[in-house]
Amino acid sequence: MHRTLQKYFGYSSFRPLQEDIIKDVLEGRDTFVLMPTGGGKSLCYQLPALLMEGLTVVVSPLISLMKDQVDSLQASGINAAYLNSTLSHSEAKRIYREIENNEIKILYVAPERLTMSHTISLIQKANVSLFAIDESHCISEWGHDFRPEYRKLSFLKRKFSGVPIIALTATATPKVREDTIKQLGISDCGTYVASFNRKNLLYKIRPKKDTYKQILKYLRKHRGESGIIYCQSRKNVDTIASRLRRDGFNALPYHAGLSDSRREKNQEMFIRDDVEIVVATIAFGMGIDKSNVRFVIHHDLPKNLEGYYQETGRGGRDGLECECILFFSRGDRYKIEYFIKQKGKKEERDIALKQLQDMVAFCESTVCRRKVLLAYFGEVLEEDDCGRCDVCLQPRKKVDGTEEARILINCISELNQRYGMNHVIDVLCGSNAKKIRDKKHNKLASHGAGDIHTKDRWMEIAREMIQQELIKVQGARYPLLKLNKASMEVMNGKRKVTLTTIEDTDFEEPEPAERIVPDKAVAPPGKTRTSSAPVSEIKWTANRDDGLFARLK
Ligand code: ADP
Ligand code: MG
Ligand code: ZN
Repeated sequence: MHRTLQKYFGYSSFRPLQEDIIKDVLEGRDTFVLMPTGGGKSLCYQLPALLMEGLTVVVSPLISLMKDQVDSLQASGINAAYLNSTLSHSEAKRIYREIENNEIKILYVAPERLTMSHTISLIQKANVSLFAIDESHCISEWGHDFRPEYRKLSFLKRKFSGVPIIALTATATPKVREDTIKQLGISDCGTYVASFNRKNLLYKIRPKKDTYKQILKYLRKHRGESGIIYCQSRKNVDTIASRLRRDGFNALPYHAGLSDSRREKNQEMFIRDDVEIVVATIAFGMGIDKSNVRFVIHHDLPKNLEGYYQETGRGGRDGLECECILFFSRGDRYKIEYFIKQKGKKEERDIALKQLQDMVAFCESTVCRRKVLLAYFGEVLEEDDCGRCDVCLQPRKKVDGTEEARILINCISELNQRYGMNHVIDVLCGSNAKKIRDKKHNKLASHGAGDIHTKDRWMEIAREMIQQELIKVQGARYPLLKLNKASMEVMNGKRKVTLTTIEDTDFEEPEPAERIVPDKAVAPPGKTRTSSAPVSEIKWTANRDDGLFARLK
């Protein structure tokens, strides 16, 4: 094994779990591998493919990446090929012949291709020794990226009962994991789960207000650093990229509305450090392995935590720090909710809504972000304070909130305790929406009484008051804000209220940076930079050896 590793892949050692997984596969066992992006999943089937007799069939959903993978395998002297819709008829025919002659070791196939009867009879004639299902979460409706053509892969275990399957993914909640294993019919598989904790990523959530201005401030403090700004819409991508250019930053757009060649070019320039910033929709990033991404900004709320984890996961691949900043607003939440409700089957909508709810809970949590994020992936973070997220870095400041509490309680009372949080706060903030006017709530004394704070801040205050049981929520379907004994005590001046708040120091004007600022050096392939010394003095060490990612010394 080690000899093959060295000879064909040029690595001197295995990454965590790789060796155990490969041994299992070589023994003919079904295996399920859950490993973060960049963890080294490919090797888990590529190396066995070389050591086993016959053919390894790799199912991969990304046609655009197949060619690259095959090219790089061929460059290492491995006979690999792919079958997908981009091949001409004669090219496909040549590959059929090579398969029949048992000349190919590794064959990449798109799922829709594999499920065609012609392909099935072809590989039945070949001597298949292993099926590798990459991005296997696509088989589950509970994943963020369900693909119907993956569903059909359940025939593999029935038709090729003696051939082991290795399923690999970077995104799977316990639910998706179970579902994937069930769908593939590999219930006796060995399961390998690597830690998802990316220690060098700094998670920060910020209230979404004047977002462009905040981003600008951030970028001015981090000139020359490479980063990605994710937006929900193509229009936002275009606007922000051009505004940034006008404001003196090297930024390019990336989204599915651009031509293939433009997209490829922009991506290439980003990877080669010819441009520092890419403003992109989530179309950007699949399969991109750029080591020195120093920040990942989410201008808008992602739809689910899997997506968020993937997108932030593109930062800090070199093991150095990467800041992940998400601008959160409830407005975004309602926008996404609205879109979800417009389409799809009921079950799909329910799943999407649940995922959105988890995403929002993450943003609104007053507990360590990393803890919440890892818990979502079924992993327990032992320590309470990770020291590397906004919650842990900025313990919330205590402020006197008696006045605010009175204003809110008064409003709930004026509304006869018959409205939900959103409506109450709309009244407080002086909204002139039709629903407010129709009910004449714009005539109440409370209308506009809360203009000392933004709506988001009031939401935060209300949630904190609920937590402290100064007010309560009643009703499952239509949760209404209600008062209790403590509310009365606050109103009668018998009780003081302490709230918490964070200070927004991050986006203020520059102060001398103390953090590690990498210069433009890019680590050689397979290497990681582990010191902040000038480029000339850097020692390069093998990638992410202690756990999945190198720790900063
Ligand atoms: P994944 O599919 O899990 O996202 P890849 O298989 O694409 O990850 O591998 C990510 C990177 O890690 C690649 O650049 C690969 O060459 C490198 N890599 C994988 N295994 C090893 C190893 N044992 N030693 C060093 N580098 C490795
Ligand atoms: Mg992969
Ligand atoms: Zn934390």
